Amino acid sequence: LAKQQGGNKMQFYSTEMNEQVLYQLELESYLRRALEKDEFHLCYQPLVDLATGEIYGSEALIRWQHPKLGLVSPGEFIPLAEETGLIHDIGKWVLKRACQENKKWQDMGYGHLTISVNVSANQFQQISFIDEVKEALNETGLAPQYLTLELTEGVMLRNISHSIIVMKELQKLGVKVSIDDFGTGYSSLSYLKDLPINTLKIDRTFINNLKVNTSDIAIVKAIITMGHGLSVKVVAEGVETNEQIALLKELECHYAQGYYINKPLKSDDFEKGLRQLKI
Ligand code: C2E
Ligand code: MG
Ligand code: MG
Ligand code: MG
Repeated sequence: LAKQQGGNKMQFYSTEMNEQVLYQLELESYLRRALEKDEFHLCYQPLVDLATGEIYGSEALIRWQHPKLGLVSPGEFIPLAEETGLIHDIGKWVLKRACQENKKWQDMGYGHLTISVNVSANQFQQISFIDEVKEALNETGLAPQYLTLELTEGVMLRNISHSIIVMKELQKLGVKVSIDDFGTGYSSLSYLKDLPINTLKIDRTFINNLKVNTSDIAIVKAIITMGHGLSVKVVAEGVETNEQIALLKELECHYAQGYYINKPLKSDDFEKGLRQLKI
């Protein structure tokens, strides 16, 4: 009996594994056609200046709306896009669309608005990356200082010497660079003084539980102090409560982003929000 049960169990696991593999294959074949079928769109999450309470820009976040699968989160399909190389075309599309929409809002009278775009490892390593950035700016007419590229420590450190070259090129272009999810990587802090970085984005895991007298506040405070010392701007991501906003203001954090201020919004809703939002 035991043997029989064992046998069933094996079968159970392998069926489950097959389903997982099949799902991945299905996802991949859908992902291959998602661009041509126009299934992607960008949401924009406001970035707020804590000193004035005003929106100074937004982060573009990709969304994939598939007719059968529904809304697939980037956490699920970006890694797959990386594995399959599809990230190159998707990344190019994101960059162009984000610059285009930001330029449109600038032309509507919000000339100061900046746009932050996430860049993944394989996209950043691509030889043509700098040209793609230039192309997006040229074709949309967005001035380079309004574009920020968000790189995680993992992306930068995959090939540090190459990253330094690319980041210096970006700096020459006038494009800004932000380190995303800061504090979760395993890298040494010493690279901060050598790399041309404009912004540190404190990972939301430190912000989520931010309360007086916790170790998280000590870490957040240290990052903000370091930011001031290095003359880089500091953004807190994942702000969910008024208390967190108050603490971040007290610590003189420059910018904030999070559900408390706004969830990522569809383009039209972001546009409406521009006329209203002030925290
Ligand atoms: P990220 O760049 O760190 O983006 C922030 C994520 O935190 C977003 O998830 C956002 O919706 C979420 N978030 C914002 N405020 C809050 C909050 O107050 N509480 C909580 N719990 N979450 C909050 P999203 O949109 O699911 O994106 C996940 C990740 O996928 C992004 O993390 C980024 O690494 C990647 N991603 C998104 N769009 C793109 C893209 O266009 N290209 C690439 N390469 N990666 C992207
Ligand atoms: Mg980001
Ligand atoms: Mg982040
Ligand atoms: Mg993240």
